[in-house]
Amino acid sequence: MSSPSDNTWSVEDAADHYRIAAWSDDFFAVNAAGNMAVQPLDDNSLSIDIMDVVAELRGRGVRFPVLLRFQDVLRARVRRLNSAFSDAIRDAGYKNVYQSIYPIKVNQLHEVVEEVFDAGKPYGLGLECGSKAELVATVAQLESDDTLLICNGVKDQSMLSLILSSQRLGKNVIPVMEKFAEFEDLIALADAAGATTQFGVRIRLRTAGAGKWADSGGYHSKFGISLPELMQVVAALQTSEAGHKLALLHFHLGSQISHINQLKQAARELTQIYAELISLGLPIRYIDIGGGLGVNYTGAFEEGSIQYSQQEYANAVVYAIMDVCDARGVPHPILLSESGRAMTAHHSVLVVETLGAFRKDNVDSDYAPPSEQHRLAKNLGDILQRLREAAHGAIDVDTLIEAYHDVVDIHQEASTLFSMGYFPLTQNALIERLYWSSCSAIMRHLRALQPDPMPPQFYVLQSLLVDQYLIDFSVFQSALDHWAIDQPFPIVPLERLHERPTRRALLVDLTCDSDGKITQYVSANEDKSFLELHPLQPGKPYYLGFFLMGAYQDIMGDAHNLFGRVSEAHIYGDAEEESNFWIEKVIPGAKVKDMLAQVQYSPSDLLRRMQIQVKEKIDAGALRPKRGMEILAQYEACFDDETYLVNSRTPQ
Ligand SMILES: *Cc1c(COP(=O)(O)O)cnc(C)c1O
Repeated sequence: MSSPSDNTWSVEDAADHYRIAAWSDDFFAVNAAGNMAVQPLDDNSLSIDIMDVVAELRGRGVRFPVLLRFQDVLRARVRRLNSAFSDAIRDAGYKNVYQSIYPIKVNQLHEVVEEVFDAGKPYGLGLECGSKAELVATVAQLESDDTLLICNGVKDQSMLSLILSSQRLGKNVIPVMEKFAEFEDLIALADAAGATTQFGVRIRLRTAGAGKWADSGGYHSKFGISLPELMQVVAALQTSEAGHKLALLHFHLGSQISHINQLKQAARELTQIYAELISLGLPIRYIDIGGGLGVNYTGAFEEGSIQYSQQEYANAVVYAIMDVCDARGVPHPILLSESGRAMTAHHSVLVVETLGAFRKDNVDSDYAPPSEQHRLAKNLGDILQRLREAAHGAIDVDTLIEAYHDVVDIHQEASTLFSMGYFPLTQNALIERLYWSSCSAIMRHLRALQPDPMPPQFYVLQSLLVDQYLIDFSVFQSALDHWAIDQPFPIVPLERLHERPTRRALLVDLTCDSDGKITQYVSANEDKSFLELHPLQPGKPYYLGFFLMGAYQDIMGDAHNLFGRVSEAHIYGDAEEESNFWIEKVIPGAKVKDMLAQVQYSPSDLLRRMQIQVKEKIDAGALRPKRGMEILAQYEACFDDETYLVNSRTPQ
């Protein structure tokens, strides 16, 4: 075990190891104390030690896991996106403006929407909704008549009517037609009301995206209007006297566009359509390129990862659209993008506690063999001692392989004897401990030698030796995309980063589901199936941060095993405050009764059932009435508990 004074490891090594510079976009860093820090302002002028936030929340009795929202980061992300586009527009000489649109499905939490909205005000930021509930949530927030609301998704007549009414209120609402029938419905409703309407169309382009969301665009997309249908729309508009306006053309290639070329191609394809329709006299003002601006969660450069900057993305869009417009001699439209992930991902960090670590190689260096030991345990103990006494690298590969074979033989022989009843359980348990510790010692020697290639049997051994760290959270509630689509999220210990992480860990959650674990990590290791962490210290908590959790994870989480929403803290940076921050609000996590209500249990009914059972026992004389009442009170108190563990026991 290395100590904080280990001079072969520094906080810079920790930053490299967890690839922090590659994914943090400068918002997160390791500070000199060896803790994770957030730099929430654009210019890195302020640094908040995340452990200070954790300490304050603990002091207030807030239950972990806690989702920290750094509101300044959210605001800074909105500003960065808008400046990337305004820089591109200025450099290109593009003769119109860009407006960002926040698609609330990425994170509908009211405060997130309000914060994004407020930060985006100077840039004319608008909102996007994709369902009836989202429409109801967004339409009431359009304080200014200029603020855009884009309504995507399949719409029924009640949604279309509400949209028409909000247009009559003078709001800048644009329903985007996903289907031809929707267009017919909209026009029929508008005509019946004697109103004129403006709308957009989502076009089914030839260009498809790539990667996990490839089917969001292209011919096979579930969404959009085909070119023949578009021509029907145009014909209908041209024959109508009502003055309905096609104001916007839209495409959405899908989230996390990995190749910028696809984006350029789609933008050019859509702009050709735009130019053609403009020359037919249609009053289109907006080109909306949808979402897709990627976030590089792993900081890696492998195939399929995000390898462009926001600036490159903005440049690509601005130049692609401008070039086609100039070639066709049509005016430059207002540019819209719905870059929800890019705006929200960075601002939230999930802080979880480690409840314990299960390590197989748990024979400490001060191991003293028991006085009574079987010949096999003695032999294995001797091998372990020899392996431990040798300097790393001092034993050659062949000798290590031989030692491994001996260790496996002893383990095998002990198992055989045990299953036949000739070997006591205590000795078998001892063999088990010595076996894994010997394997671990062999692996440490091998890693020092770095044989290339690694003898194949050791790959399996390496993965068997990984520790399990039990974490107080649910993958299904807090990191659904990890389970569903293998999305890796950066996970970093929040402290002890000046200390070399010597354990290889697999993080497992509280759910009774074998999928409730993290299987892919972000680190400098070639093998991403484990995360290097510190050994737990008895009596001390060990906190991990899950980073870039702000997009989708907040909202898609489900109630597997009835683990509910985690606690939340909203934090602002402030150089005037002692630790550079203040906490605006703490929202407690979901309670047991909330989760029960979701699946139609009522606490009063459950309590009544429990009362009947207790009463029966009391009546039968099997339970003292006082004890019975205590049990009922204890049961009732659990309704108000949060769903995660109350960490009354410190990790072992
Ligand atoms: C989901 C969605 C978005 C958000 O896309 P991101 O790439 O995640 O930012 C934008 N527009 C539409 C139409 C969407 O369906």
